[in-house]
Amino acid sequence: MTALADTTASYDALERALAREKLIRRQAEQLLEDKARELYETNLALKNQFASLQEAQAQLVQSEKMASLGVLAAGVAHEINNPIGFVMSNLNTLAEYVRVFTTLYDEYRNWQRATISGDAAEAAKIGVRIEQLRKREQPDAIADDIDQLLAESSDGLHRVKEIVQNLRTFARLDEADVRLADLNDGIEATLKMVWNELKYKCQLHKRLDPLPTLRCYAGQLNQVLMNLLVNAAQAIPERGEITVETYATDDDIVVKIGDTGQGIPPENIPKLFQPFFTTKPIGKGTGLGLSIAYGIVQKHHGTITVESQVGVGSTFIIRLPRTGVTS
Ligand code: ADP
Repeated sequence: MTALADTTASYDALERALAREKLIRRQAEQLLEDKARELYETNLALKNQFASLQEAQAQLVQSEKMASLGVLAAGVAHEINNPIGFVMSNLNTLAEYVRVFTTLYDEYRNWQRATISGDAAEAAKIGVRIEQLRKREQPDAIADDIDQLLAESSDGLHRVKEIVQNLRTFARLDEADVRLADLNDGIEATLKMVWNELKYKCQLHKRLDPLPTLRCYAGQLNQVLMNLLVNAAQAIPERGEITVETYATDDDIVVKIGDTGQGIPPENIPKLFQPFFTTKPIGKGTGLGLSIAYGIVQKHHGTITVESQVGVGSTFIIRLPRTGVTS
């Protein structure tokens, strides 16, 4: 082979190598472009998924609130139903009594008119009718009963008023304002609200020490108490005890809510405060009560912990610094 042929051959080889490299670079660029597009699309899909997850979570938080409101509404309806029922029945009886007294009064007026006009025979006839009415309707007994019915109805209406006031104290779940509150008042109001859930199966023990007032989101803390109390009642299969205890240390206000329910297996303890963790059947538990409670307690710079033994019971302990919400 000549030197020229040699040079031509290596030139060809170089060109081929360059062309190959160009091809490889173009393929690599295409690959990168495809990957970038793929990543962009995955990112977009993830963003959409994240948005719909956020929406689903917001809906679930809302449904937990609705569940709390459901418990409240059921309790309030039950508590109000009874007094309203007997006040209505008393009103019917009172209407009947008013009819008796009106009839008597009318007859008395007739008798008076007959007497003034000198019609003794008519007056005597009316007198007989009045006497018959008196014997039949027993107005003296009715008068005694009226006092009792009025006192009972007034009691009933006071109870309704108290329930509505408690509802007002309690139901500021979304209250944005920080205010000074006594947690014992929150406990009393919340207990009245959930009493309907507790009363059939729980004996309630309260040991509430006097507490300093706390700068807090009082309505939100009431929701924490409500979640814990309802959980405690639901953990008790048939009959048991719930103990609510409060006291203050130098640094903290402590609230303990204990039950003699089924207890929590050790492997579930780390999961309790995670959103959506529930051991309750679908429709009964959302798994959000404790995670919401955790968030609210954190907002108050506090802690929420649990001690539990299967078959013995559980106690949730909330510690809130006495300094309260500072911002
Ligand atoms: P939910 O009550 O909707 O299930 P929570 O977040 O309030 O949601 O509670 C999560 C889980 O923690 C419950 O399903 C239950 O297994 C457990 N739990 C909470 N409180 C108690 C309690 N007092 N006793 C036993 N288990 C409890």
